[in-house]
Amino acid sequence: MDSTQNPPTKMLSLPSGMLFSKQLKVTDVQQVNHDTKRITFALPGGKNEVSGLTPGAAILTQHTPAGAWLPVLRPYTPIHNLDQPGILELLVKKYPEGRASTHMHSLSPGDELTVRGPLPGAWTTPKDQREIVLIAGGAGITPIYSLAKGILFNPEDKTKIQLLWGVNGTRDIVLNQELEALEKQYPERLQVTYAVSGPEASPSAASLGDESKYRKGYVDKSLLQEVIQKCQKSGAWGDAKAQNVFLCGPPKMEDAIAGKNGALTQLGVQKKEVYRF
Ligand SMILES: Cc1cc2nc3c(=O)[nH]c(=O)nc-3n(C[C@H](O)[C@H](O)[C@H](O)COP(=O)(O)OP(=O)(O)OC[C@H]3O[C@@H](n4cnc5c(N)ncnc54)[C@H](O)[C@@H]3O)c2cc1C
Repeated sequence: MDSTQNPPTKMLSLPSGMLFSKQLKVTDVQQVNHDTKRITFALPGGKNEVSGLTPGAAILTQHTPAGAWLPVLRPYTPIHNLDQPGILELLVKKYPEGRASTHMHSLSPGDELTVRGPLPGAWTTPKDQREIVLIAGGAGITPIYSLAKGILFNPEDKTKIQLLWGVNGTRDIVLNQELEALEKQYPERLQVTYAVSGPEASPSAASLGDESKYRKGYVDKSLLQEVIQKCQKSGAWGDAKAQNVFLCGPPKMEDAIAGKNGALTQLGVQKKEVYRF
């Protein structure tokens, strides 16, 4: 029987996905850099089931630490291709003393994790062609990557993306092979720029290579101005809901970019034009 006759079920859909948790079995764990693991889970319904998430949407993980009364719930945005049946993949950065991330990093193949969801994504496919800026800081890349893939893979969506990713050092960059592959596949629709801060950004430090791709410093006003001007040139700035910028990063970065006196405000981008995950 083909999949049009028998479409896969959706593991998480509202409201049942929030009310009734699911148990996912870990099938693979890869350490991808100094603090981040890629954890693959099998869905309970196997190949007949997809996660049910939309681009940029997150799940809630749940675990109760030993001796605690209350469970710890945290959002994580899966990075697998959303139409892929049978699996769910998370990229998890470990924070020192982080309750959820330390638990997730302790998981091995065969272990189970409780999840709920979905926490809906941010995107409405525009009817006409649009240009948007996606900004990630550190582990905030996961919702941004999921959103970018959802937009690029949808044949009805012609949106062009400027993706800025701020990291504390090149060792924090993950998913770069995947992002490079997407840029090659969609050269007219995706441009990724890395903003590398920390010691590697010092003027005396060695060049980071391709300087149009690897900038030294933060995602700041001048970098934002540059990419916004590129988007505005076509006159198609923004998505169907007139949101122009999608942002996910640590609170300090988000405030510097989208806070009251943040770089975007200084550039005339209004609060309602910025979606914060
Ligand atoms: C929509 C959404 C999607 C997310 N998706 C992912 C994902 O795919 N992968 C992923 O790794 N994380 C993701 N996160 C972050 C994740 O939900 C947790 O906040 C993070 O893993 C830390 O939780 P914890 O319980 O380990 O740390 P906590 O126990 O809450 O905090 C422990 C310590 O870590 C610090 N800390 C916690 N969070 C951060 C942070 N974001 N930046 C800097 N310091 C911090 C705290 O200040 C504290 O000192 C997402 C967040 C949101 C809102």
